[in-house]
Amino acid sequence: MPLNIDASWIENRLNNGFSRDDLKSVLLSSDREADLLYRAAREVRRELFGNRAFIRAVIEFANTCRCSCVYCGMRKENTEILRFTLDPDEIVSVAETALANGIRTFFLQAAESEEYNAEWLGDVIRRISDMDMMVLLCVGIHSEDDLDYWFEAGARKFILKHETSSKELFEEMKPGFLLEDRIRWLRTLRKHGYHIGSGPLLGFPGQTVDSLADDLILMKNLNVDMSSVSVFLPAKGTPLENSPVGDVDLGLRFIAAMRLFLKNTLIPATSTFERLSKDGQLQCFNAGANVITVNMTPSRLRDNYELYSERFYVGLDHARRTIMRADLVETTEAELFNK
Ligand code: SF4
Repeated sequence: MPLNIDASWIENRLNNGFSRDDLKSVLLSSDREADLLYRAAREVRRELFGNRAFIRAVIEFANTCRCSCVYCGMRKENTEILRFTLDPDEIVSVAETALANGIRTFFLQAAESEEYNAEWLGDVIRRISDMDMMVLLCVGIHSEDDLDYWFEAGARKFILKHETSSKELFEEMKPGFLLEDRIRWLRTLRKHGYHIGSGPLLGFPGQTVDSLADDLILMKNLNVDMSSVSVFLPAKGTPLENSPVGDVDLGLRFIAAMRLFLKNTLIPATSTFERLSKDGQLQCFNAGANVITVNMTPSRLRDNYELYSERFYVGLDHARRTIMRADLVETTEAELFNK
């Protein structure tokens, strides 16, 4: 069968840009076409970053949430999980362990929690930043004063997933929130000096390939520094608990599209791929990813950070082995940008 996408098609788009229809073609590509796209994505990664990837460590430090996102096990209506906020000393001690293992980027993640204030988190950021670690935040929406406070404390990166670029679907999935506010907030983060990250959850009921192409265009327009995709997995106790899981193959094509279209962003191989497919994160690297995140949330609590049920927890050995199997060399985030 003749290929619509071949090497010259890809080269032409890399040189002249991808239209919305081109992005849809990438997402809808056949397996043979996808192999060519993955190869091209690896080549773009090699040109921009060398054959290198880095490991970051995440700690999920608070799971109380004021929101009711219909897909998330931490929505405020879910009374089945234990709610927690970690002690600052424990967070810093985990960061020390990460550093002792050669990890230089520490990712502080929380639900939209009201259990801590700006000073509390600022103190944690300062202590970790003083250890010469890069601090990345994913803590939802707070005031602009808080953003400045945390920036002064040493945080430099902020992830706020837009989840879907479809206005209607966004409002259905995140009741009480508007897509335009989230996009404005991403621009606000940039204005306050942060490197920004965003991305969709792939596989929401009712999501279309058109809207996934729009996700890519939105991230391009926002000029994101970090782009990611997770595959939808239902969480127990939510309105979507019986919905089907997202499509891993489509997720891999989305990663290749991010690498080919956005080019120099940091793209993580997210745990949902490994949860759904054997060697799923290796496949992400083979489609153009260049980051993997080790989960360092204390094991006694992490099942309560229920983004989806029965999570796959990425350990350090698995992360290192996956990078090696992808024929990549482990580096640090700072080194990655010093070719
Ligand atoms: S997705 Fe985030 S904001 Fe929404 S309910 Fe879950 S933790 Fe809260």
